[in-house]
Amino acid sequence: MKKLKYYFNSLGFKVNNALLLVGIIPIIVFLVFNNIMVSKYFSAIEEKNILDKTQQAYKIFQSKNLEIETLAKDYAIWDDTYEKIEQKDKVWFKENFLDYIPSDLDMDLIVVADKNKEIVAEYGLQDKDGSELLEDKTIHKLVNKDYYDSNDTFKGIKEVNGNLYMIGFAPIIKSNYEGPSRGIVIFGKKITFEFVKEIEQQFGYTVFFLHHDQLISNEVIFLYDNRVITEEQINEEVKNNSHIIKQIKKKRVVELGKTKIIGSMSIQDISNKELGYMGVIESRDLFFSTLSFIRRNTFEILLISCSLILFISLKLKNNIINPIQNLEKEITKISQNQSLVHVNVKGPNEIVRLGSAFNQMTDSIYKHKKENENLKIISNTDDLTSLYNHRYFYECLNNKISQGIKPLTLLICDIDKFKALNDTYGYTTGDMILKEVANVIKESVKESEFVFRYGGEEFAVLLESGTLEQIFQTAEKIRVNIMKSKKLGEYVSYLTVTVSNGLATYPFDASDAENLVEKANKALYFSKQNGRNKSYIYNKEMDELLEKNYDEFEKQELLMNSAFALTAAIDAKDVYTGKHSEMVAKYSLLLAEKLKLLKQDKYIIRIGALLHDCGKIGIPDDIIHKPGKLTDEEFTIVKNHTLLGNSIVKYIVKNAGIVSCVRNHHERWDGRGYPDGLSGEDIPLYARIVCIADTYHAMTSDRPYRNALSQEQAFEELRKNKGTQFDPGLVDLFIQTICEDEYENKIDECSV
Ligand code: GH3
Ligand code: MG
Ligand code: MG
Repeated sequence: MKKLKYYFNSLGFKVNNALLLVGIIPIIVFLVFNNIMVSKYFSAIEEKNILDKTQQAYKIFQSKNLEIETLAKDYAIWDDTYEKIEQKDKVWFKENFLDYIPSDLDMDLIVVADKNKEIVAEYGLQDKDGSELLEDKTIHKLVNKDYYDSNDTFKGIKEVNGNLYMIGFAPIIKSNYEGPSRGIVIFGKKITFEFVKEIEQQFGYTVFFLHHDQLISNEVIFLYDNRVITEEQINEEVKNNSHIIKQIKKKRVVELGKTKIIGSMSIQDISNKELGYMGVIESRDLFFSTLSFIRRNTFEILLISCSLILFISLKLKNNIINPIQNLEKEITKISQNQSLVHVNVKGPNEIVRLGSAFNQMTDSIYKHKKENENLKIISNTDDLTSLYNHRYFYECLNNKISQGIKPLTLLICDIDKFKALNDTYGYTTGDMILKEVANVIKESVKESEFVFRYGGEEFAVLLESGTLEQIFQTAEKIRVNIMKSKKLGEYVSYLTVTVSNGLATYPFDASDAENLVEKANKALYFSKQNGRNKSYIYNKEMDELLEKNYDEFEKQELLMNSAFALTAAIDAKDVYTGKHSEMVAKYSLLLAEKLKLLKQDKYIIRIGALLHDCGKIGIPDDIIHKPGKLTDEEFTIVKNHTLLGNSIVKYIVKNAGIVSCVRNHHERWDGRGYPDGLSGEDIPLYARIVCIADTYHAMTSDRPYRNALSQEQAFEELRKNKGTQFDPGLVDLFIQTICEDEYENKIDECSV
């Protein structure tokens, strides 16, 4: 149905329709109309022709009548006749009249009568015929006149004894046309079949007379129509004949089917009394052959026109409709495939140009599409990192959830202490760090996985495939790769860029996008609370723990931030040691770990270790950077950094443990240290730990006055000074910790 509707509305159908409407239909209408008109016109000609012929036949008939009249005049207007009629000399009339008339004139009726209507001579006359003729008033009146001349006419048709006669007559007068008339001479020729034949021979066409219901004609057609027919059929034809006779009486022209046509005219007798009809029968062959010729021509014209229109229609189809349909097909293909390839159309110039215009249009659509896509990419992309932005993160997450993609794990990755990094190295380096962290994250996940810059220094990754374990490994991979990134290490020479990760999974942990983000953030916060540089998957217990530790953690954060600021300042001063404070904090934490100290203690050690050298801020650079041996005075200044540090940190922290790390990290186990000369266990444990870590890192790194010792040499030094400089109970544990297989990893992962 749809196909049919499409076809009716198609260009091909419309063009064919138009051709039909402006071509074939008008031609057919014209030809039919023309045919009707031609038929009518030829009918009229045929009708006129047959009537003309009837007139001609009648004229021949009249000329015959004139011959008879002339004959009658010849015999009547003759002095001998004039004389002999007076004498009623019948013998004379017999011998000189009747016998004298040449037989080839073939008269059927001859009457010679005197003025008393007494017949003197006659031929072919029946008893009552004489009176019928002689008593006729018209004849009588014509013949008996006072004056005669040669122009007088005495002829006409007369019914005598039921038969039609063509008669000519004349008064018997003198040769010089002087009367009075002594009688009358009448010549008559019976209108018979033979007579009709005579006219026909002269005329060349079939002639007939219709007198009452009697048909005088040699034409067999009337009865037999030139056909071989049975007797029964003859009777039938006779009936038809009576039918034709009726028609002749009614109409001047009668058509006998396709074979004959009859033209007729009424004939009157001498007294103008209607006698019947005379007519001509003609074959209609010429009429019908002309008509069929015209019809054949018409048909041929129609055939030629139809062929021409068919030809035009085919040409239109090939040259216009097909190319347009091809163009339409190509365009449809393009729109279905959603691809922007060029159409290839052949055909007339206009359609080829239409195709190339279309191609130009698709080019420009393609260009706009590309521009739109670029705009979309721009609107979805973060300028700095080229990752997808926060806006697109939510669009993508919501789309994935509404598409029913599950499970879907969200990883939020936040750079640790980024503010401090910014503060230390400047905003430009901060930006470079952000870029590189983005690169590392991208390189650590599959290409199909979406990475977003969720916030300032927060990134998000949507992970769809793999088990939770595998996803956790991905988070860890990101974390480790960032921590070990050489490029990042170059950006921040004194510190390490680390990240903390939080993971949550839809639909297990959260019912919608917002909730999922909230849960992943909780896991991230948990990582931060637990020392940073860690990955955590969200679980319900975290909610409670986070709540419980919130205040304490925030306080610690504040302190840590200050410690970091100071540490950065100290380490920046010490160009050779670089990350010295950070490394001392790390070693100290490792030892604290080994000693299984409480979390709180580890926190004190961590801050204390970071800040242990903060007093060096007050030591002039030339002393710090001096390659040679220090003078006593210089050494005193250097030693003073413990007290200076103490006075700096005491404004920041109240915690005695932390302060002790700063003040007492140069005390010796044997009491020969500074600044307080404490010994043994009088020295706070935190300070003893930091002391070993500080010495170990100092020995294993290049100093202005000597190159770094090897690990073994450093261990040797530690062992050598066990119980003198260092707490003997700690040295072996420290060495053991450093020697442990996973030392490298542990030191890396130690969050400072
Ligand atoms: P935490 O470990 O708790 O995440 O500490 P943090 O210092 O990283 O977190 P905080 O939210 O306190 O600081 C984030 C900092 O990131 C603050 C802001 O100056 C910095 N930051 C945000 N956007 C940009 C940026 O586009 N470029 C740079 N250079 N720094 C940025
Ligand atoms: Mg943050
Ligand atoms: Mg951060």
